[in-house]
Amino acid sequence: MIGILGGGQLGRMLALSGYPLGLQFRVLDTSGDAPAGHMAGLVWGAYEDKEILNSFASGLDSVTYEFENVPVGAARYLEGRLPVFPPSRALEVSQDRLFEKQLFQKLGIPTAPFAPVESKAELTDALHKLGAPSILKTRRGGYDGKGQLVIKNLKDAAHAWHALGGVPLILEGFVNFHRELSILAVRSKSGPCAFYPLAENHHREGILRLSLAPAPRWTKELQTQAVSLAKKVLNELQYVGVLAIELFETSAPKGKTGSVLVANEMAPRVHNSGHWSIEGAQTSQFENHLRAGLGWPLGSCEARGQAAMVNLIGNFPELPASFEFPNAHWHLYGKAPRAGRKIGHVTLCETSVKDREQALKGLYKALEMPDPRA
Ligand code: AMP
Repeated sequence: MIGILGGGQLGRMLALSGYPLGLQFRVLDTSGDAPAGHMAGLVWGAYEDKEILNSFASGLDSVTYEFENVPVGAARYLEGRLPVFPPSRALEVSQDRLFEKQLFQKLGIPTAPFAPVESKAELTDALHKLGAPSILKTRRGGYDGKGQLVIKNLKDAAHAWHALGGVPLILEGFVNFHRELSILAVRSKSGPCAFYPLAENHHREGILRLSLAPAPRWTKELQTQAVSLAKKVLNELQYVGVLAIELFETSAPKGKTGSVLVANEMAPRVHNSGHWSIEGAQTSQFENHLRAGLGWPLGSCEARGQAAMVNLIGNFPELPASFEFPNAHWHLYGKAPRAGRKIGHVTLCETSVKDREQALKGLYKALEMPDPRA
């Protein structure tokens, strides 16, 4: 039996992909109504509670996690008792934007210029060094665009400090990017790695709305760049499981052609920008994450067509009318609607980029949703 720390939709989809492989699951979550708990045994309690961790771990073969804010101490405690994947060091690095950027830098992976900020004086210094605009972010705990602020002018330092100061921060230089991409990589316990085609991601209000995979204008050169930087992280961390790295595509320096991928952040888990792989790839990210942790051969990451994944955020679309849309694959997570909450997603998988665009247009119309690219 596999234990999953966290019982959200990612845990739910992990369990759903594992049942056909004959696997069983138990999840640990702080909520008694966690979406993964609807279909796997649920232990309900605090991650820091040793008694809870003991009863969760009892009889498990291995443990994974489905969100990166699991306390590192809980993962370490479990690591002393049974195999935990991905390794707790990946969790530790990805929980802190400074550690993450320092790791990228150490591995020669391009990032935005950055500086740690602990005081108002350090913020002023960092702003003079990196210039404006730049982005001030909390090092820990930010998600979906929360805990960050664009500083447009050097004079805005005091306001930015007032809004976010008091906790460890990082100032990042503003990256002039064409678009946002992500690479999903997977490394098996037995060593082999595999990589999904790059996805193009569109956000609104800091929340992922749409992923297109393979990314429009996908090239071998772009994919090679992404694979090469992901490999460095996988090897450095002796990683096991799926790792997502969010990237900015930027112009190559003057005098050179092509693009340079700049790493923004990483998630040591299955990722929203990989949900398309359930129908759109030969093997889903969820199945490959499990195969990796069990040391089984990885499944092919090859795309089956041109996929588009649309997040359902806040409210349910009109059902069943929207089910009449024939090529759409629906995933509802069993969560109550709430503004800004990811409650499900829909995936389209078409044979050409043109068909994908057309189907997407139809889907947005049927759902009465705006296209985030508009
Ligand atoms: P994050 O929480 O780091 O993923 O940031 C949320 C969003 O802010 C990203 O998806 C980007 O659109 C934007 N962003 C973050 N960092 C930078 C940066 N250094 N330069 C430009 N845009 C950024």
